[in-house]
Amino acid sequence: MISFSEFLDIPKIDAHNHLNLGMRYSSYAPWAGFYIPNFPRKMSGLDEMHEIIGDYTRPRVQSAKDVSTLFSLSIEDAIEDGIKILEASVDMGLAQFFRNTTAFCNMLESLKSQYINDISFRPEVGMGKTFDKAKLKKLVPECIQSGVFGSIDLYGPEVLDGIEEFQAYFELAYKKGLKKKAHIGEFSNAQTVKDFVNFFELDEVQHGINAAYDDSALLLLKEKNVRLNITPTSNVMLSAVTSLESHPIKRFVQEGVRVSIATDDLLFFNRSVSEQCADMVNAGLFTKEEVLDILNQSYEESL
Ligand SMILES: [Zn+2]
Repeated sequence: MISFSEFLDIPKIDAHNHLNLGMRYSSYAPWAGFYIPNFPRKMSGLDEMHEIIGDYTRPRVQSAKDVSTLFSLSIEDAIEDGIKILEASVDMGLAQFFRNTTAFCNMLESLKSQYINDISFRPEVGMGKTFDKAKLKKLVPECIQSGVFGSIDLYGPEVLDGIEEFQAYFELAYKKGLKKKAHIGEFSNAQTVKDFVNFFELDEVQHGINAAYDDSALLLLKEKNVRLNITPTSNVMLSAVTSLESHPIKRFVQEGVRVSIATDDLLFFNRSVSEQCADMVNAGLFTKEEVLDILNQSYEESL
């Protein structure tokens, strides 16, 4: 058995991290002032996770200070794991607690400066497909133009319906030099991964795991040099894959598709990048050297 400490001092990227849920439960609970019953636990899909968010974590956020404190907790737990580049999705819904977009962006800018000696914190414009479109219309372009964000991410129901409403944001993001990401292929099929990659000209896919056994999807990802930011523990805990041992990340690596290893929501899944690296070696998925190759490559290409 290998220990996570073998990966702790390796410089790492976490490129799939939802910043308001990116901290340990042990960091979260003292701040929140409550425990979540029977938590963290294995869940059967996203509905169960969204129930916990609706009942506990979302109502706990009531002010700009709450938002920045939550973000700090996540950044500090990333530093604790030896993450040197944190590309973290900042949910646009949280801007409602700030006077205006400038105040929202200033908060992120000050977090960047505060932690600059330990980590390169790169906020990501995080858009849910079900968000109020009228609010996004003003907020998202302002955020993209602010220069604070390094990437853009779309999440929510993994269907093609309505994605055209986000196309202009991705075009603007591209013009401004932001990386383009979207959540797809966690529960949806390989075809949807291909459709999203082609439609938005994605640089990276959050999840994408169901593209693993479709040759044309693998070919597309390789040809377009798209990286998958994969979150193995999240996939097991949400029952998107049956076990770590059978996780399709192995297939992508064998086929030469670029991957990174990421946390998704540390609060819910409780495995850091280093811990997941050890878990994958211990599950017989990769050798330590193979994991180190993934870590080094995903870090260096993001410098
Ligand atoms: Zn995610």
